[in-house]
Amino acid sequence: MKKPDFSKLVRKNVRELEPYHAEDIRCAVKLDANESPYSFNLEKNALERISSTALSRYPDPEAKGLKKAIARKFGLDTDAMVLGNGSDELIYYLIMTFGGPVLYPVPTFSMYGIIAQALGESHKGIPLDKDFDLDLDRMAAYIKKFRPGLIFLSSPNNPTGNCFSTDRILKIIEMASGIVVLDEAYQPFSSKRGFLSLLKDYKHLAILRTLSKIGLAALRVGYLVADDALLNEVNKVRLPYNLNALSQAVAERALKGSFLHDVTSAIVSGREQLYEALSLLPGVRPYPSEANFILIKVRDAEAVHKKLLGQGVLVRNMNSAVRGALRVTVGTPDENDKFMRALKKAVGGK
Ligand code: PMP
Repeated sequence: MKKPDFSKLVRKNVRELEPYHAEDIRCAVKLDANESPYSFNLEKNALERISSTALSRYPDPEAKGLKKAIARKFGLDTDAMVLGNGSDELIYYLIMTFGGPVLYPVPTFSMYGIIAQALGESHKGIPLDKDFDLDLDRMAAYIKKFRPGLIFLSSPNNPTGNCFSTDRILKIIEMASGIVVLDEAYQPFSSKRGFLSLLKDYKHLAILRTLSKIGLAALRVGYLVADDALLNEVNKVRLPYNLNALSQAVAERALKGSFLHDVTSAIVSGREQLYEALSLLPGVRPYPSEANFILIKVRDAEAVHKKLLGQGVLVRNMNSAVRGALRVTVGTPDENDKFMRALKKAVGGK
């Protein structure tokens, strides 16, 4: 049978997409994906005990136990939230629920634009200003003219690492006619307070968070906190059992002890040391970070990226988003040392 020409069968918006490319390069020092270098270890026999509770049954569709554990751990005054298979899935649901145009600053997390495109919604990235802060005038003009259904603000922002200034975020929230999503994936590492307390004042605000950056990326757990009515709309498009039983059970265990807190503090102090070391290295400009990674500028990002790889160190090449930039995730002290030694050689021309 003749193979169909899929490029003709596929929807136009999907035809224009490329599959998301997550690097799968085996490296001694892997600092490219903003994961935690510290892994949560289940106690002995825990998996046997978890799986003895009937893998033949669907998981709790509401993941009630996990919602309670998240609310308790992060001091939320409600366990009303929608959980996602990673916050990626929640971005999907939000765009599916509220539609576009979808507005976001650039550079930022690429999935806002990719998912909008996949769902056939128009999307617009407005460049950040020279300090990597929101360009309020340009965003305001777009909001007035196109009335976006959704605005995504990642603060701290990936890949720049900074928080946007609070007054600019507030102005965007005030002027928006659609939903504003504050993506706080990196909030646990930030010295700023975050926006959860504003939810009671702004019913069109939603806060997106994840357990991925604080040691549980493999479980794929993200959560969306917002007004009940907003969550109710998102729940209409959520797949019935989107969070599998093993992730629910393991995440609940991990949220019990002090593991997540300890991991976060270790990463923040590692980040401060790494920033200090980077600032002292000629030919390298690190940008201050409120996240678990640091954006650096070097003279030739492509060459330095390659030279690091040659020494077994994988960082993220951000050259196409920010000219001359690489993004390095904070690792263990030993990984940070290895990265610094390799970087010294790479920028030193060796
Ligand atoms: N938001 C931001 C800003 C991110 O950087 C990431 C991960 N790179 C995510 C959301 C998605 O995280 P996850 O799907 O693992 O929860």
